[in-house]
Amino acid sequence: MRLRNIPGADKAIEESEYCFNNPETLKGRWKEQFPAVRPLYIEIGMGKGRFIMEMAARNPDINFLGIERYSSVLLRALQKMEQTPLPNLKFICMDAAELEEVFAPGEVSRIYLNFSDPWPKDRHAKRRLTSRQFFFRYHNILAKDGRLEFKTDNQDLFSFSLEEIPLAGWRLDAFTRDLHRDPVLNEGNIMTEYEEKFSSLGNPICKLIASR
Ligand code: SAM
Repeated sequence: MRLRNIPGADKAIEESEYCFNNPETLKGRWKEQFPAVRPLYIEIGMGKGRFIMEMAARNPDINFLGIERYSSVLLRALQKMEQTPLPNLKFICMDAAELEEVFAPGEVSRIYLNFSDPWPKDRHAKRRLTSRQFFFRYHNILAKDGRLEFKTDNQDLFSFSLEEIPLAGWRLDAFTRDLHRDPVLNEGNIMTEYEEKFSSLGNPICKLIASR
């Protein structure tokens, strides 16, 4: 993602009622951080937040947390949230490498990864959010019957992800390399900002669902 440093973004996030600062202090207590006790779904690398905001609006019986590494990007989601607040959605500005410091075992019921950065160089494979190293982290925070859903238009990253799943001890439940033409997997699909951009260029969208 092209990134423009927005002056004041860090401060806006620090002061926002929709963001958790020091999220590691809430480990094991995420249920209490929302008006109602519900299952917790997270999106990692949520960008400007269209997907998770629409998910939260459509699913009031689920609590959602959007995770984004860059404050300048997260700020865009916060601005939208100020216009249309949702009681079941909050945000954290953090690197997903620290997930296990923030969530207790089993605390998360579902993980969404949408159009994650591809890190194309082999030596950076560990940084991909669908590398086995990240699947181990997800294993440590996900509920027993939890699952992970991943979408991308990047064919190489998708092939890599399909290979990593069994190597990490996970199970591939479903996948498609043309989501928008798959009536089953596309049902209720919410397009992310990147999905809209790349599908309008004619790129097929890939999706997989994985669990343990
Ligand atoms: N999910 C959005 C979409 O589909 O439109 C944004 C996709 S953008 C290519 C990837 C996003 O993931 C960026 O905003 C980036 O900052 C964030 N990201 C990448 N690695 C991350 C990490 N380790 N932890 C948290 N966010 C990360």
